[in-house]
Amino acid sequence: MMETGSIIGDRCVGPTADRFFESVNPATEAVLARVHDASAEHLDRAVACARDAFGDWHRLPAGERAAHLAAVAEILEERAADLASVETADTGMTIGMTSGGHLPRSIAHFRHFAQEATRITGEAIPLDDAYLSVVERVPLGVVGIITPWNAPLAVMSINVAAALAAGNTCVVKPSERSPVSATLLATAALEAGLPPGVLNVVQGTGAGIGSALVEHPAVPGICFVGGTATGRAVMERAGRRLKRVTLELGGKSPTVVLADADLEAAVDGALLSMFSSNGEVCTAGSRIIVEGPLHERFTEAFVARARAIAVGDPMLAGTEMGPLIDSAHRRRVQDFIAAGMREGARLACGGTPPPDLPAGYYLSPTVLVGVANEMRVAREEIFGPVACILRAPDADQAIAIANDTQYGLSATLWTADTSRGLSLSRRLRAGTVAINSTVVRDIRAPFGGMGGSGVGRVGGRWSIERYTEVKTTTLKVEGLPLPRLGRRNRE
Ligand code: NAD
Repeated sequence: MMETGSIIGDRCVGPTADRFFESVNPATEAVLARVHDASAEHLDRAVACARDAFGDWHRLPAGERAAHLAAVAEILEERAADLASVETADTGMTIGMTSGGHLPRSIAHFRHFAQEATRITGEAIPLDDAYLSVVERVPLGVVGIITPWNAPLAVMSINVAAALAAGNTCVVKPSERSPVSATLLATAALEAGLPPGVLNVVQGTGAGIGSALVEHPAVPGICFVGGTATGRAVMERAGRRLKRVTLELGGKSPTVVLADADLEAAVDGALLSMFSSNGEVCTAGSRIIVEGPLHERFTEAFVARARAIAVGDPMLAGTEMGPLIDSAHRRRVQDFIAAGMREGARLACGGTPPPDLPAGYYLSPTVLVGVANEMRVAREEIFGPVACILRAPDADQAIAIANDTQYGLSATLWTADTSRGLSLSRRLRAGTVAINSTVVRDIRAPFGGMGGSGVGRVGGRWSIERYTEVKTTTLKVEGLPLPRLGRRNRE
């Protein structure tokens, strides 16, 4: 069993007999790690370390901050195989997903923001001949970063790398459901030479440490990645203190399949977007809206392929879908399936754990057909392997159904006519849209949601904007005739 501590300054504060919780491997139900259950005092200490480190860190020449971030990327790359295994054991994501997706992305995040650190520039605004205003981006200070359980390293790394590149220092509160890799990342960063206090990790619950971090008076910036309901509460509380808040929240993303789409490609894309990452991904294409004439053939092909997805041990290379994060979450997902059927949807496949996998929190890929957009299964984020197939009479209706949601994170659209696809996609309300592809994320491009899916964007310079304030300094240039107060009575 592993011991996972909090990283506070240069110290790892480990779990103790009276301050610990357990993280369970969802594939085996065995305890993976005993984790430090930090107190409010631990959080205060971590924030104090981050404040102490801030002065030197933000004054470092950008090139030196960049070198530190590149060194973190390097050490993550050396440890990538081990980190991917731990991430799989802690989350249930397949080893293909963690080693081929999450780890390379995490490394790329540090490499990219190492470069971005050196690209932060300002503007000069001449005000006639009299003044010159200099506009700079300055860091916020200590940034609190709260992460979800489904992609811990990838989500932590994009935000930590951007915040540090911009000159901030960080206190990270990982999810208590998959806490291990955050501590490993911060430990590796210290070993790579990152100055102590620049990156701190405080382990604990959302209601305890998460909430205290949001309220902490010495933390002016909050980045929260998680569910929409939690995000709303975070924003309300951070709003009372007028903090800079970035929210990356849930989704109920539409996959729109038009009648002229390439059936095989659309089925491939819809399956990947729905069931990769065990359905536990914010961009999951969980509402599949198919235009009438293709609906029957699409559904038949989609269900046949969903039935054939290889569910099993996420450590095995051939596995396509692993277990859900824990038994409470699997119960919640199954409750959604039951609710959908009560409201009139038909279960085409799945709905129960695979009989050959008695241990672990597995659930077979599930497809509900005959779903109406008013049903709970179509309105709420399930965050599990449950695809809802809806029928649209025509393309206009398909777009209307796609937009009829509180969310707006991502959308995909499948059609043989790409110029019509482009025109229709411009009517989709989503932060990221893909035509004839699953959602592709490039670190230089902005990513984030509209409406209930979030506030702000991450990626490239958009991240830097979230993690900096704009500051204007004005210099007098020459010949400024200032009105001279207080002189008239003396003359
Ligand atoms: P969650 O909202 O339950 O928890 C997220 C984090 O917030 C955890 O670290 C948790 O401990 C903490 N937290 C809980 N209550 C808190 C509170 N009152 N104050 C402060 N922090 C608190 O979400 P989850 O179940 O861990 O993650 C799944 C959700 O995350 C899904 O909705 C998914 O769509 C979303 N997500 C979004 C993105 C994105 O980029 N938009 C990426 C990954 C996951």
